[in-house]
Amino acid sequence: MRESDTLERAYRLRAYPTRPQQRAIGRLIGAARFVWNWALWRRSDAYKADKSQLNWIALSRELTVLKRAAETAWLAQLPREPFNQVLRDQERAFANFFAQRARYPRFRRRGGKASVRFTLDQRRAQVARGTGKERWAYVQLPGLGRVKLRRTEALMGRLRSVTLSRDGAGRYFAAITADGVPLTEALAAKVAAVGVDAGLRVLATVHDGERARPFPAPKALAGRLARLRRYQRHQSRQLAAQMRAQGLDPTQPCPKGMRLGVSKRRHRTRRRIAREHARIADLRRDALHRVSTGIVREAKVIAIEALRVKAMARGMGRRAFRRGVADAALGELRRQITYKGAWAAREVVPIDPFYASSKTCSGCGAVNAALKLQKHWQCFACGAQHERDVNAAKNLRAEGLRVLGMRGSSPATGERPESNARGVACAADAAAPVTVLPLQRRPTANREPAQSAARRETRRAPSGTARRRVRAGL
Ligand SMILES: [Zn+2]
Repeated sequence: MRESDTLERAYRLRAYPTRPQQRAIGRLIGAARFVWNWALWRRSDAYKADKSQLNWIALSRELTVLKRAAETAWLAQLPREPFNQVLRDQERAFANFFAQRARYPRFRRRGGKASVRFTLDQRRAQVARGTGKERWAYVQLPGLGRVKLRRTEALMGRLRSVTLSRDGAGRYFAAITADGVPLTEALAAKVAAVGVDAGLRVLATVHDGERARPFPAPKALAGRLARLRRYQRHQSRQLAAQMRAQGLDPTQPCPKGMRLGVSKRRHRTRRRIAREHARIADLRRDALHRVSTGIVREAKVIAIEALRVKAMARGMGRRAFRRGVADAALGELRRQITYKGAWAAREVVPIDPFYASSKTCSGCGAVNAALKLQKHWQCFACGAQHERDVNAAKNLRAEGLRVLGMRGSSPATGERPESNARGVACAADAAAPVTVLPLQRRPTANREPAQSAARRETRRAPSGTARRRVRAGL
């Protein structure tokens, strides 16, 4: 297999360490923090003394000496590998600092990012990947032994490193980085292009040009949210009680510098809230993964709304809260579609949020500026009956094909081609094999090159829709 047919990626798996392994992971995380801070001291001391710069190999030698000292002998009982990894990570952090890509590396405190990383030895098979539909995979790690991992997909390629971490709800995860992963997802697309409208109760509505398909949010989510609100009510009641017990007025904010005691009950509520938050995030992410995988399998071209610039703060009412949650879900969905799209050689087209996908009639192009939040509406110009989400998804699809056509062809000549004709032409293009560019680059959450390119394009050449919007007085 040619290298260009492969990609780098990370697998995130839930880990199920045994009790002794959990204790060992806790010790390793603490020791990794100690080594990081110690190395940072050594680097700054050496620099102050004679402007010398210690590299990780020199520090690794010093660490060996440190292990022989009486008060740091506990280090010697722990496996070596995660500490070398810490020193290498710090070296990279300094390189980024000197290249002015990052701030000066900081000391790590307890309660911060709690994780520990192991490099995998390529000469030994440390990971039992499991085959077919097996539920478990295992990774053999120094000082820990065999750690059990929940397997949700096939682990492909060369597995490079494993990072073990623990979240606020006390769950463990293993992030495995891999390279040389073959492009298995590049299946033939069933349809040329879809538009994706993201929402809350219906996570996404997908329109393929002929019909729309809703992806509803999981039912369990509503129950979880209700429970979270209940716990939050408990928390505020318990907080008020604590303030009264300390002679404070609970209707006033707690004075600065005042420390409130934490009762056993309050502690328990706090833990419950953290766990509920984690489960809700999981449910939502899981559901979104199903949606994004489905969409990427289905279509060659995927049009989805680009990042909305944050509206000015108008106070955090119920609607603002819902808006915020919806934006977060849209962001996560777009992130997943973007990187999965890169794996499967799909064209993901971000649509400028100024494009009024909800308010534009997908039949005649008239813009219903007065449209509020109603689910159904009728076009004042052509009389068409619309379902809000379906209409928006259909519009996003058409707009995606238009943007794509503009990007591919010469700059707009001034005449406005019929949007349908254009759509068909682009659909034909879309069916042709597409060369994938960003393969060697790891798809990351923040990097969305296609998006900014498309945005620039949209700005440069105002299109039919933009002009229609201007005429409609928007
Ligand atoms: Zn209409």
